[in-house]
Amino acid sequence: MHTLIRQTHEDRILRVLREHGALTRGEIASRVGLSRTTLSEITNVLLERGAITIASTDGDVRAGRGRPAERLALDPGAGQFMGVDFGHRRVRVAVSDAAHDIIASGAEFYDADSSWPDRIASCFRLIDRVGTESGTHYGALQGIGIGFPGPFSPRMPKSSVTPGGVPQRPAGDLVYSSFVDRFDVSVIIDNNTRFAGLAEAIWGSGAGAQDLLYVRLSDGIGGGLVVGGHLVTGASGFAGELGHVSVSPNGIQCRCGKRGCLETIASVPAIFGSCTAKGVPISSFDDLRAAVAKGDPIVTGVLRDVGDALGRVLGTVAVAINPGEIVIGGEVVQIAEVIFEQAVATIAYELLPVPEAAPHIRLAQLGDDDGALGAIAALFHQSPLLASYPETTQPEPQHSPMQRSIS
Ligand SMILES: [Zn+2]
Repeated sequence: MHTLIRQTHEDRILRVLREHGALTRGEIASRVGLSRTTLSEITNVLLERGAITIASTDGDVRAGRGRPAERLALDPGAGQFMGVDFGHRRVRVAVSDAAHDIIASGAEFYDADSSWPDRIASCFRLIDRVGTESGTHYGALQGIGIGFPGPFSPRMPKSSVTPGGVPQRPAGDLVYSSFVDRFDVSVIIDNNTRFAGLAEAIWGSGAGAQDLLYVRLSDGIGGGLVVGGHLVTGASGFAGELGHVSVSPNGIQCRCGKRGCLETIASVPAIFGSCTAKGVPISSFDDLRAAVAKGDPIVTGVLRDVGDALGRVLGTVAVAINPGEIVIGGEVVQIAEVIFEQAVATIAYELLPVPEAAPHIRLAQLGDDDGALGAIAALFHQSPLLASYPETTQPEPQHSPMQRSIS
């Protein structure tokens, strides 16, 4: 049977079962208008895949009328949605059921210089592992949202090469096609920090922020913007690349080619590097935690400079877009509160001309699974924040520029 037709039939059968609960094959056939033969063929596939199960027989309701008929029902886990967040050093996966509850999640770590095929292999292992641990078989998987480390836009040109000379777009294509090949469901892919910002806007601030500026300090620095109740992607999909806003024109050379980008001061490697260069060797969060606990003045000085640089960028953007809320994320900010304190002070200074515009500034509330959760949110496409989220990030099998372009 033609794949597209089969899929349409499958969708209708699943919908009928979702609406009506357990039904016999005969009842399903009459509701979706399929012949018994075609229906049997499709329900067998769905049973095999685990999307539906044999719930019971109708023996009790039609006693004495021959062999009881089997009743089919959606698997309790019907309708699964997977969020994936590829970071520079780890991949995180979260799977939600149709009720939007997270039923499986986990992370797997890799080296920052590992290849994309290796990262994808790690992710597939992780998906298998969390599936086994949680008893999730993915038979009802309906979509996958993938967060990709930035700068990344699903609409970037084929030839895009980003900081560090990494051919970003082809890597995105490889990730996309690997997931489509493996799972055969609809896949969307976008910047992981944008997804994290979306998750913070939906779940982190309760009511759903209308104007929110999100930034995350990590191996790199990315951001997400919600303006007027919409997640902003920008004309070519790069909105929110706060890591490459200049803060020090004569500063350190950034991997993007410019000098003095925010990332050269406030990314985690930059922070560790500055402390080390000033005589306090720091190469891990544990080192940093210890130095902060001791109140090391050199480290405190570095962290204040980080907070100041961060505050200048956030304050500048705040002058431009007047967000109601600014959210600062990243493990380093949780460890070193002084970054947050200084950023708040600098943002207030930047907003001196319009003090009434002072936003509510807070630490991110979600944990490391924020990117994966945001990817699931984008998949549901139910938040009003996604009202104008471009369809181009949900590629159609035949027309998408993202489709299987790696050979
Ligand atoms: Zn840069």
